[in-house]
Amino acid sequence: MKYCSDCGSQVELLVPDGDDRPRHVCGACGTIHYQNPKVVVGCIPVWEDRILLCCRAIEPRCGLWTLPAGFMETGETSQQGAARETLEEAEARVEVGDLYSLFNLPHIDQIYLMFRSRLLNLEFAPGPESLDVRLFKEQEIPWDELAFPVVRETLRLYFRDRADGGFALHSGDIVRLDGNIGRYRLNMHGSGGKEAEERL
Ligand SMILES: [Zn+2]
Repeated sequence: MKYCSDCGSQVELLVPDGDDRPRHVCGACGTIHYQNPKVVVGCIPVWEDRILLCCRAIEPRCGLWTLPAGFMETGETSQQGAARETLEEAEARVEVGDLYSLFNLPHIDQIYLMFRSRLLNLEFAPGPESLDVRLFKEQEIPWDELAFPVVRETLRLYFRDRADGGFALHSGDIVRLDGNIGRYRLNMHGSGGKEAEERL
């Protein structure tokens, strides 16, 4: 951030009185511009034993498959955001169900909230941000062509729970290692360290 969005003057990076970390502070009007993590909301759209995935038409990770998800907009709930993203990316209508996974991605200041969702019908098509939209059975999931670790981990948990006959809310951290998007550290909360590991 270079300029104050309130008055247009240059901002400085400094620790305000009573604070414990640097903020962008306007020297002219005194406004402190706080920057906080963004919330990404999305769906696991289900039809019978199949999951809807979108092939991305945009960077990052163009040409790879993802669950429909995107940044929450102001004025909407997380469930509304998840349904909106599914409509935009897959032109699919869903009934949004229970929150299923919460992942912290501190290296990019994002929190992902993924909801289990029921596709209302088989009318879907690629939106402007997708090249293709398809339903996949578990054995058809393109594990090596998934766009993001958070998608891979959410699907992995989903199929494990489905096989076990029950779904629970899962939360964890995904931290990218070495600046390489393919290599990350996964720490599932409440697993007693059992699922803290590096993955490729
Ligand atoms: Zn200002």
